Amino acid sequence: MAQLPSREGFAEDAPQRPAWRGRTCVRPPPGTRAPPPAHACSLRRGAGRWRRPGGAPRSARALRIVPWAHLCPAVSQAVRAVGGRAQPLRDNYMYLVIEEHTREAVAVDVAVPKRLLEIVGREGVSLTTVLTTHHHWDHARGNAELARLRPGLAVLGADERICALTRRLVHGEELQFGAIHVRCLLTPGHTSGHMSYFLWEEDCPDPPAVFSGDALSVGGCGLRLESTAQQMYQSLVETLGTLPPETKVFCGHEHTLGNLEFAQKVEPGNDHVRAKLSWAKKRDEDDMPTVPSTLGEELLYNPFLRVAEEPVCKFTGKAAPAEVLEALCRERASFERAAEPLQPQARALLALQWGP
Ligand SMILES: [Zn+2]
Repeated sequence: MAQLPSREGFAEDAPQRPAWRGRTCVRPPPGTRAPPPAHACSLRRGAGRWRRPGGAPRSARALRIVPWAHLCPAVSQAVRAVGGRAQPLRDNYMYLVIEEHTREAVAVDVAVPKRLLEIVGREGVSLTTVLTTHHHWDHARGNAELARLRPGLAVLGADERICALTRRLVHGEELQFGAIHVRCLLTPGHTSGHMSYFLWEEDCPDPPAVFSGDALSVGGCGLRLESTAQQMYQSLVETLGTLPPETKVFCGHEHTLGNLEFAQKVEPGNDHVRAKLSWAKKRDEDDMPTVPSTLGEELLYNPFLRVAEEPVCKFTGKAAPAEVLEALCRERASFERAAEPLQPQARALLALQWGP
């Protein structure tokens, strides 16, 4: 069980240097120009546990991502009081993507606009665009206020129901922000107009990233609410499941523990599930986030990406992938209902840095 967060973990009290930092950069997807080999980069986290090979100097890498995790109940209550909504934000992630060369910033799923603007101000960047994965309140609630405060802001997404939408995106569309490329991937299932965003930086050997909202989470996925099982299968297995395995997965919620507990029920003999669950429990005890994972990891333990695997078929008693997925969704929903109510999560702020 997660401990109640200390005040020090809350965003408004957080030190300038967040509690958790990491960095990586991205690689073009298949079919794009190969990066030059000299652009070596590796993850660096905390007090420099991960370092760039050879201690190379800072490079001129462009892409940096600042996630903000809305995991603390006190802030949720404040949001509830301001927003007048009964449902608190419990475990949402929102992200700020910064193009370091142009200092342009793009937000993904603005759950808490005030916090986002604080980060924008702290970073001294110019926020031009919001990418919304889907229309649900906890992902799009900040759009209207942000649009009011920042006239001219582009609010993009694939669903007309998205609050303050300025332009509707279509599947396969590509956007560019300086050196950062974004491919829009329609991923219906959780909602019919759910868009995931695949990002990479030109000429950089580090992994790309996907902002998968509620289409794909660490160890699971959002409930299927609006689409057919076949559509959801295409989203998960054919659209997201075929991205480069090194793709970093930045999802919309911190649901990893519950997801993996369900994955263990589905595949009790899967060592990858066991190992990831034990890692996730440790992260929870340490008040640390579990994003990002990689797609390659997800393929090993996420049952919703493993619908063709024999143990998953056996669990559901089905053989056709879409039917397996449909049965899994049903089982997951009843597993959720049977589980204890969610405990408050801890630690509200984290940041990943693309670039040194
Ligand atoms: Zn949702």
